[in-house]
Amino acid sequence: MVGHVDYGERDRIVRLLCPDHGRISALARGARGSTRRFAGALDLGNRVEAMLRPGAGELWHLQEASLLRGVEGLRSDLGRLSLMAYACELCAALAREHHPEPRLFGLLDTALLLLDATSEPPAAAFRVGLEAKALTFAGLTPALDRCAVCAEALEGEALAFWGERGGACHARCAPGAPLVEPAWLRAIEEARRTPLRELIDRPLPAGPAWALAEMAEAMLGKGLRSRHLLASLETPPRPVTSPP
Ligand SMILES: [Zn+2]
Repeated sequence: MVGHVDYGERDRIVRLLCPDHGRISALARGARGSTRRFAGALDLGNRVEAMLRPGAGELWHLQEASLLRGVEGLRSDLGRLSLMAYACELCAALAREHHPEPRLFGLLDTALLLLDATSEPPAAAFRVGLEAKALTFAGLTPALDRCAVCAEALEGEALAFWGERGGACHARCAPGAPLVEPAWLRAIEEARRTPLRELIDRPLPAGPAWALAEMAEAMLGKGLRSRHLLASLETPPRPVTSPP
């Protein structure tokens, strides 16, 4: 379950990410009724077994859904909850509709399992690794060791990150793009290649924290709504200083 919107008084349109069929939207009749037809299965982040039948147009009909695994462990923790919502939105947005997406499904499934099992919000490399892997599995591998503009190696000169163009580049190839340190790029590439479970407590060098999210948004042509709550939680509040 990667998203839903309420529909009418009793129904709900749910969004599912499925290994064999990619992203699916389905009408769940009676999902909000007093009888609770789907009995708690249709919450964000849940792994469910679903029976669907084709409906009119793109919308399927959800016949049955049973809960296989929930994420109850993190629902009381705003930090992990908002990261869970972001992971669902990101992986679903990058998945194609009605097309197998086993790697995006597996990535999200692993991320939710780890988030549910850990007791604290994971370190920065976890989210960035998730973003880099999700982009890669969607066929949008970010350029991290070659310039996204001129394709030459990124060595020995000022570097920048230009998400709209596909990743890192020479500063001279991308005037105006935010500058980045080589150490940050190396850490991102390492996070991309490292299993998520090993990134849970790995810090990241300073860099543009949302560069990969912005790249995904540029590639998708739309914003990721859940990113803003997450960003507000990741940035520690600034100390208030009173004027002299
Ligand atoms: Zn270049």
